[in-house]
Amino acid sequence: MTEHGSYVYPVTAQSSTVLEVLLRAMKALDVKLKYSEEVIEIERVREDASGMPSESGWNVRTKTWTYTADRVILACGSRAVPSTGSNGSGYELCRMLGLDVTDILPALTAVSCSLYAPDAKAYVPGSARRQGRQSESQHTADPLSDASGTRTLALVTVLADGEQIAQERGQVQFTKQDLSGIVVYNLSRFVVRALHRGCEVTLSLDLVPDTAQDVLDQTIKALRKKYDGISDDRILCGLVSSRLIPAVLALSRQSGQSLAHVLKHFLLKASALRDFDSAQVCAGGVRVTELHAGTLECRAQELKGIYLAGELIDVDGPCGGYNLQWAFSSGYVAGLNAAMEP
Ligand SMILES: Cc1cc2nc3c(=O)[nH]c(=O)nc-3n(C[C@H](O)[C@H](O)[C@H](O)COP(=O)(O)OP(=O)(O)OC[C@H]3O[C@@H](n4cnc5c(N)ncnc54)[C@H](O)[C@@H]3O)c2cc1C
Repeated sequence: MTEHGSYVYPVTAQSSTVLEVLLRAMKALDVKLKYSEEVIEIERVREDASGMPSESGWNVRTKTWTYTADRVILACGSRAVPSTGSNGSGYELCRMLGLDVTDILPALTAVSCSLYAPDAKAYVPGSARRQGRQSESQHTADPLSDASGTRTLALVTVLADGEQIAQERGQVQFTKQDLSGIVVYNLSRFVVRALHRGCEVTLSLDLVPDTAQDVLDQTIKALRKKYDGISDDRILCGLVSSRLIPAVLALSRQSGQSLAHVLKHFLLKASALRDFDSAQVCAGGVRVTELHAGTLECRAQELKGIYLAGELIDVDGPCGGYNLQWAFSSGYVAGLNAAMEP
């Protein structure tokens, strides 16, 4: 069945159905399946069965066995949720083969943030909490904690050292520790790379994306004129989710910016991403330049017969099936080419 135009799901809506279909296809083709054996080493065959020197084929060693093959496809996944078996050991195998592997970073996960008032350079309650620092302001109520559990529509812009590097619109979710939701997951791929480069990374949330700032300004002025002495939190009521009001007020106070400005530029400083245990994919992997684009076989002559597929390669995409699609498509290409007669 197809949803949202192009997202294709099994009619059962169960991922196990996809696995079942693949297993049945393997059975029909009489494919031998071995599992629960971790590959610990891959090395060139040095001699043939009769003990004569040979340079063709590969020995794939596990703790209990050595398999010999003309061609090998490595599809060990990444380090995302290592408990699923993808524990990052594939990267080590690739490094042992001499392949260039980038740094591996968690992606498609929540981003740890704190309120950020760049103009005032002042402490905003909550800004030290992700670094675990002690602060005299610890006793001050944390306005971001009040926002925990809030979902709201926002246009989120990611800035690295002040330059826009990504933007996406949709529902964001405030949790006790971080900013979450599909939009944030998608942006996390850019956040993690920028943090890794040592950039200062800011998320600027437009909390009222369908209203221009001057219209907001006029609305707020009109409210102040109509209701003499009206408090700021009453003005914000109806403009933004009630649990976000303390944070908007705190930012406005600390930065000296108008309420309308803060609603359009609600700034959060990103400090980290959640760990590999909660990441859906990893950013990074074996550099694509190590592979022939058309076959996914390693380029290096001494690695002839080694193919790569899936997340092990430095390819990652946003939420929406792109990562599974890459795994299936690259597996298809590597499989087709590895099975061809030399
Ligand atoms: C919670 C979660 C939700 C996700 N949701 C989506 C989604 O909705 N849409 C989407 O597109 N993507 C999603 N992804 C990402 C997607 O699942 C992966 O990108 C994709 O499965 C990668 O496929 P792969 O074959 O490269 O690796 P994997 O599916 O990780 O498979 C690698 C296999 O290799 C095995 N292995 C690893 N090392 C060794 C070794 N040394 N020896 C032997 N075996 C080894 C592992 O046990 C594992 O079975 C999600 C991921 C997670 C964790």
